[in-house]
Amino acid sequence: MYDFNYQRASSVADATTKHKAAEDARFLAGGMTLLPVLKQRLDQPSDVVDLADVKDLVGISEENGAIVIKAMTKHHDVEHSDLVKSKIPALAELAGTIGDPMVRNRGTIGGSLANSDPAASYPSAVLAMNATIHTDQRTIAADDFFQGMFTTALEPGELITKVSFPIPTKAGYKHFPNPASRFPIVGAFVAQTKDGTRVAITGAGPCAFRVPEFEKALGSAFDPAKIKDVKVSADGLNTDIHASAEYRAHLINVMARRAMGG
Ligand SMILES: Cc1cc2nc3c(=O)[nH]c(=O)nc-3n(C[C@H](O)[C@H](O)[C@H](O)COP(=O)(O)OP(=O)(O)OC[C@H]3O[C@@H](n4cnc5c(N)ncnc54)[C@H](O)[C@@H]3O)c2cc1C
Repeated sequence: MYDFNYQRASSVADATTKHKAAEDARFLAGGMTLLPVLKQRLDQPSDVVDLADVKDLVGISEENGAIVIKAMTKHHDVEHSDLVKSKIPALAELAGTIGDPMVRNRGTIGGSLANSDPAASYPSAVLAMNATIHTDQRTIAADDFFQGMFTTALEPGELITKVSFPIPTKAGYKHFPNPASRFPIVGAFVAQTKDGTRVAITGAGPCAFRVPEFEKALGSAFDPAKIKDVKVSADGLNTDIHASAEYRAHLINVMARRAMGG
């Protein structure tokens, strides 16, 4: 680890002010990604601005037909929230599949989305439910947020404050886990929304993406039989020691059908 200045923020305004004033700062949420990155000397920020004391960044509520989750809310708290379990059970289920108990008790939804790991679980839910990402500066639609491997629409110093998930009529999530890390090799979130059924995939490509072929076949249905014979191209999908692009393409169909109970 290289030397850096450690700062603790007391509010959203304090966090963004400290970030701006520093030469090259990073926000610190649960540290589940940032700390290993620093330990391995893959990044060398001048300052780390810890969000742990910003109480206004924690909590889950229902507002205008949406479940709103603040950025520093831990995966464990989403998994066990009665509100999430009653309104979007698939989202609670997804949170419960993330990593292991230590990761779920430290990792946050804001950190996960800002990081945009190709295999992160939440991005599939954000895209499938057409969620809105709120920052200290603006709102960003799910379809505009994920831009590539570890790349999002966030500007340097822009802080995610909360995520708003419109409550779907039905939703399901299933993933095929990497046996070592538990990250999805392929994860599928399917949501029946007022604008039709949306299907989003994580783990298979450089970042989470929707599957227009499945969405066209499904229309507004939540029926695994409708996509049984719809093939997804392996072009552009990830290949690694765990799964080839062709295998991931196959898993996309299997996981999407399982997410709908098939
Ligand atoms: C062993 C292991 C297994 C895991 N398995 C899974 C899995 O199965 N599925 C999955 O989805 N994830 C998995 N994760 C990732 C984990 O769940 C965390 O969500 C992720 O590492 C981000 O961690 P964090 O919230 O602590 O953010 P940090 O590590 O603190 O920050 C990550 C990045 O986001 C930035 N950031 C943090 N908060 C904000 C904010 N509010 N606004 C803007 N930028 C911000 C930071 O500056 C940093 O660049 C795993 C992690 C580990 C270590």
